[in-house]
Amino acid sequence: MMERPRVLELYSGVGGMHYALTESCIAAEVVAAVDINTVANEVYKHNFPNTCIYPKIIEGMTLDEFNKLDFDMILMSPPCQPFTRLGTQKDVLDSRIKSFLYILDLLPSLTKLPKYILLENVKGFETSVARNKLLQTLENCRYSYQEFLLSPTLVLEQFPDLDSMEASDISSFSQTLSADDNNMEGITADCCANEIKNGRDETVLYKLEKIRHVKQKQSQDNNSSTQMIQDFLEEGLQDPSPYFISTKSLLRYALILDIVGQTCRRSVCFTKGYGSYVEGTGSVLKTASDVELASVFQSFETLSEDEKLTQLAKLKLRYFTPREVANLHGFPPEFSFPEKISLKQRYRLLGNSLNIHVVAKLIKLMVE
Ligand code: SAH
Repeated sequence: MMERPRVLELYSGVGGMHYALTESCIAAEVVAAVDINTVANEVYKHNFPNTCIYPKIIEGMTLDEFNKLDFDMILMSPPCQPFTRLGTQKDVLDSRIKSFLYILDLLPSLTKLPKYILLENVKGFETSVARNKLLQTLENCRYSYQEFLLSPTLVLEQFPDLDSMEASDISSFSQTLSADDNNMEGITADCCANEIKNGRDETVLYKLEKIRHVKQKQSQDNNSSTQMIQDFLEEGLQDPSPYFISTKSLLRYALILDIVGQTCRRSVCFTKGYGSYVEGTGSVLKTASDVELASVFQSFETLSEDEKLTQLAKLKLRYFTPREVANLHGFPPEFSFPEKISLKQRYRLLGNSLNIHVVAKLIKLMVE
């Protein structure tokens, strides 16, 4: 490997890629972090005061500017909204992906092609036109490449030790992932209504969940090689009140909340709407450890609103705090937010970010 590679971090956000690079133990230097979001940039600066931030639109940067940075590696997380299952799936027609197409255009014209490129995105990207364009560009520039569809729990439990991971390992188990596994589990009212079939596993148990879903969750929770939720919680949370879920949201969304207890070993993915929107944005925590979900939701439909609320209150549900979401994403303890960043902004920024441990392994794999 070359001496101290120069890294260009595009769509840098709060610096998830930078943390992953640090964790990978590769002696590299981030020569520029580019992002238009001023709030994200403030957080980045707060944690990496010595890194040069370009508060710019990527498609506004010239070839000359890129050439001057003289980078050996690109780490990038282009916007994922054009590809997410809950989004419009407009793909390359979505204006938010313009900058990425611009990068692809520009790449072959660089004076020096970077030796390494790592791109992170969501499930849905792998079948997009944007991905095809990326591959075409990589092939034209004679790169060799590998693609992975990964679930953090699988990567971290099967390969806790960095050195034991081989490229062939990851690609093989990426194929065994179910569509439900990583980002958002499709347990919405909608999908259930469409899917009800005759099979026993399709029977709705409670909370709109089918035996199949419950079984899948149980098997994840019983897998002792995955850490428990309690390992990621803030100890002695001073004031949990900002994190309680409003009565209105509780009543409206009770049946579709993904509720996890402290001894669970799974959650759904936390996305940028967490804390503001309930549906499909991330799991909520049941802090009453002695109350079973089934006891609260059995015959739930037949209750009056007041009774429903009494039942739900027993679970003592709350949102995970931003620090806890950061922990679940593998951010190191020294990561922090400047005080003035609001709760909503913190959730939004973390929801845009990535799993540090997984990306650290990928960087290592790429370079070695
Ligand atoms: N990996 C990052 C988050 C990536 S989310 C992290 O760890 O936080 C995508 C980021 O791209 C957002 O922060 C958004 O502000 C930025 N972005 C989107 N379009 C952009 C463009 N055209 N130019 C520069 N930044 C852009």
